[in-house]
Amino acid sequence: MEQLTAPAIRKSFINATRSEVAALNLPAGFAELDWDNLDYLGWRDPKMPQRGYLVTPLEGKPVGVLLRAPETSAPGNRRVLCGLCQDVHSEEDVYLYVARRAGQSGRDGNSVGTLICADFVCSANVRQQVPATPIHPDPEAVTAERIAGLRERTDRFLHRVLGR
Ligand SMILES: [Zn+2]
Repeated sequence: MEQLTAPAIRKSFINATRSEVAALNLPAGFAELDWDNLDYLGWRDPKMPQRGYLVTPLEGKPVGVLLRAPETSAPGNRRVLCGLCQDVHSEEDVYLYVARRAGQSGRDGNSVGTLICADFVCSANVRQQVPATPIHPDPEAVTAERIAGLRERTDRFLHRVLGR
C-alpha cells in the first residue's frame, strides 16, 4: 500500500470518535515501516492494548477502523484461521476483533467482528515463500493470489463495518 502520514491515518477512521482518534498512539517503528509489503497497516495501541487499528486503501482512499481486542488472550486460539489472510501454517495467535459499525448504526451499538492475526501479521503471512509443488508449480503466482485474497477479504470486512 502507499505510505500514509500520521495526519492521514488520523483522518481515515470511519468508526471512531474524535476523542478516540486523538488518543491513538502510532505503532512502534512507524517511520521505518515497509509499506510496499503491507496490504493494510494494522497494530495494537502500544499504550492501550485493548485497542487495535486497521487502515487500508478502499476505493482509492485510506479507510481506518478502530477495533476492540479481547480482554484476555484465550489460549489455544492458534488453531483458528485468520479471516483475512487465512494462513494455515502460521503459529501466531488469532483474535476475534470487534469493530463498531460506522455512522448511526455504530452509535446505536451495532458492531461486526472478524478473526485477525493478533499482531496483524497477515501481510507477512501471505508473502511467505511457498515451495513449488506439482499442483502449484509457480510459487510466485501462489503468492500473488494470496495477496489478492487478503486484500479482497480486508475490503469485505471494511464494507461490513460501513454497513454495505
Ligand atoms: Zn492474518
